[in-house]
Amino acid sequence: MRAELFVDGAFRPATSGTRLLVLDPASEEPLAEVDAAGPVDVHEAVEAAARALRGPWAGLATAERGARLFALAAGIERVAEDLARLEARNTGKPLAEARDDLAGVVKTFRYNAGAADKLEGATIPLGPEVLDLTLLEPLGVTAHILPWNFPLGMLARSLAPALAAGCTAVVKPAEETPLTALAFAELLAEAGIPPGVVNVVPGTGEVAGEALCRHPLVAGITFTGSVATGRRVMALAAERAIPVVLELGGKNPLLVFADADLDRLLAEIVPAAFENAGQVCSAASRLLIQAPLVEELATRLVERVAGLELGPLISAAQRARVLDMVAEARAGGARILCGGGPPAGRPRGFFFAPTLVCDVPPGCRLAREEVFAPVLLLEPFTDEADALARANAAGFGLVAGVFTRDLSRALRLARALEAGSVWINGWYLGGQQAPTGGVKDSGFGRERGLPGLLNYVRIKNLAIRL
Ligand code: NAD
Repeated sequence: MRAELFVDGAFRPATSGTRLLVLDPASEEPLAEVDAAGPVDVHEAVEAAARALRGPWAGLATAERGARLFALAAGIERVAEDLARLEARNTGKPLAEARDDLAGVVKTFRYNAGAADKLEGATIPLGPEVLDLTLLEPLGVTAHILPWNFPLGMLARSLAPALAAGCTAVVKPAEETPLTALAFAELLAEAGIPPGVVNVVPGTGEVAGEALCRHPLVAGITFTGSVATGRRVMALAAERAIPVVLELGGKNPLLVFADADLDRLLAEIVPAAFENAGQVCSAASRLLIQAPLVEELATRLVERVAGLELGPLISAAQRARVLDMVAEARAGGARILCGGGPPAGRPRGFFFAPTLVCDVPPGCRLAREEVFAPVLLLEPFTDEADALARANAAGFGLVAGVFTRDLSRALRLARALEAGSVWINGWYLGGQQAPTGGVKDSGFGRERGLPGLLNYVRIKNLAIRL
């Protein structure tokens, strides 16, 4: 399979002459060759988006813009099974998970389609002599730089509100997973989205990503990915003083108190820590357990987790990185309760067995860095204050969770935990309507919900002397 760039409403080869080799992570076999955008291609994509911003997209009534996004959602839904299969092959994730992702993509487009004609400004009471208003204008050409773990899910999360707000866009998918973004582009025309409104430029971060961030016509960047790249993207944005949304990694603690409903916890923990083979920014990755429960919970977790069949990690490099982190922790005294490396009987593919680890030395990378793999750390705590101190010690702050039957404790902790989201007695709560985002190294800005739309408008103040 060979794929090209999508620029100004049409597929075309890259001028760079280079290609990305896309692998199937479950078999390690080549899946596709995709043209890699160079600076000239990125320039043309941004120019096309700038023309579309001034063209028919800007001229649409907001309800009509919404109607076309509803049509796009319907188009995605019609071919959702094909897109799910392609996503599953490109990422290695189980088909059932890819189908869930696609259902989320459709919901995200519908939610934002419905908001297109509801972005309202305000009247400001200055007094009898002046009428003061705010106008919400589209931010302009927006850049969307995406990770590989939920290729279409992350595309929808930032692109749908950008389009609803009247922006145009250039999307750069991750090197490993460009296929569904290109297949999505095929649906735009029939939904009435004019050429140039959405452009898709697969390519490397260093070349295509940087060219996009540096382009003088890009008015804002939404970046979803690792902390190191997020810092780099922000530095590039700072050179032009344009806004960025940074959705970065996590090291998300889940606090389990002795009074918790353990059956409910055990039902939630498998998806919480192991869905998408743990390659989720908001995965539970540290299970903090009140001391009396540790032995019982560890035993029950091993029973539940050890036999799970998971999809592969995305790449050999990612698996090697996780193996290094586990080896370092083991050398420092960590105990592997199950897993710890590739599962038996899987000679091909970047698979990693579901892993539970305890006694992880605090200084090692496994304790401090995001692992992004099916690895759950178990850590005892004594009381509420100890749990809070341990949870907040992480440099990240994306999600934190609390399992307890004590409502006051849950709410005290919800206030005190340093995280963009706190989930009580459940995991992966929330949806298209609820904002998500990080504090500390997990980034800033909020996506989803009405706050997610506000990333794509700028406020103009209009004052009229009466
Ligand atoms: P990554 O940072 O390696 O790459 C992300 C994107 O940035 C890719 O498209 C890449 O090509 C691009 N990029 C790389 N260098 C660049 C540069 N110099 N300039 C511009 N763009 C550049 O991240 P990844 O490994 O693809 O994704 C995994 C990470 O994403 C994890 O850390 C995960 O936590 C994070 N993530 C966060 C969220 C969230 O909502 N907070 C959601 C999904 C994933």
